[in-house]
Amino acid sequence: SDTVRLLSSSQVITSVVNVVKELLENSLDAGASSVDVKLENYGLDRIEVRDNGRGIKAADTPVMAVRHFTSKICSHEDLERLETYGFRGEALGSICAVAEVAVTTKTEDDDISTQYMLDSTGKIVSQKPSHLSQGTTVSVLKLFKNLPVRRQCFSSTKKCKDELKKVQDVLMAYAIVKPELRLVLVHNKVVVWQKAKVADNRSALLATLGPSAIANLLPCHHHQEQPEIVLEGFFPKPGAEYSTTSSSNPDKTFIFVNDRPVQLKEIMKLLRQHYSAQYPDDSARSRYPTLMLKITVPPSSLDVNLTPDKTQVLLHNKEAVLTAVEALLVSLYGFRSN
Ligand code: ADP
Ligand code: MG
Repeated sequence: SDTVRLLSSSQVITSVVNVVKELLENSLDAGASSVDVKLENYGLDRIEVRDNGRGIKAADTPVMAVRHFTSKICSHEDLERLETYGFRGEALGSICAVAEVAVTTKTEDDDISTQYMLDSTGKIVSQKPSHLSQGTTVSVLKLFKNLPVRRQCFSSTKKCKDELKKVQDVLMAYAIVKPELRLVLVHNKVVVWQKAKVADNRSALLATLGPSAIANLLPCHHHQEQPEIVLEGFFPKPGAEYSTTSSSNPDKTFIFVNDRPVQLKEIMKLLRQHYSAQYPDDSARSRYPTLMLKITVPPSSLDVNLTPDKTQVLLHNKEAVLTAVEALLVSLYGFRSN
């Protein structure tokens, strides 16, 4: 029923940030090398994500926003070797239930793009030719128009500003892990943040965080067999003052598992313990260092299905990953944190 759909959708789609993240992941899954994110009124009036990816085949458009349709996996085995961000076919349909959605798309085989207007169940209600080049543009209007309490809650000036910062943080994370991606964030027609295509993670960090934040970062690497775990990243140089952001906000501590930005509590705790032991003065204690840690594990040992936003992941070899991170810290700084 409509109520059930609204309830479950409102659990998948919880905020402007969440919509932007889902649409950006779809663009990346479609092989886009350029993504423009445009917000109006902090995304409450309009969120538009435009990419230059493969586009959506005409045959898929009638079902693209139908709940549980996904073009990305066909079998349970596919889930075990997952290489896309999306796999549940839930985002587009859920967004339709809480906003007005239009999708404009053009594949290589199409002569012109087509704009599809979707209803709250994700069905196409009308379509018309349009003039965009190859790729997909998703427009989300009047987010939470049917959830007045939630819309109200996101409307305060403070909340709006917090959300805009969170959108930027999410884009920064993908900018760092996808150096070749060009990204732009526009709010009310003003460019808030942008990052050009660059060659590698270091250049991506530089382009994203600026020279002072990365001046004291060293590339580091750790490879472990059985279970296979690869750690790569940029960590503060031993002995150097490490760059931090505001206290107790880990927003510049970028951790990725198989290229997904994640929040892994145990690893954050380990990092924090380590750096507060190395720099025992109080001011550094509660702060998180600016760093990038890329963890790569076999896709079969990762369960990303834990929470709708996929930022909490379940690692089957969590202990082994923690041990590997500890080993990396010890090899860099030469002592154990506890
Ligand atoms: P999922 O990403 O889990 O497959 P979504 O609801 O996010 O589910 O998207 C549904 C489907 O719509 C995708 O599987 C894909 O086929 C298509 N799609 C959505 N956005 C894009 C895009 N930007 N480019 C190409 N295809 C897209
Ligand atoms: Mg998706």
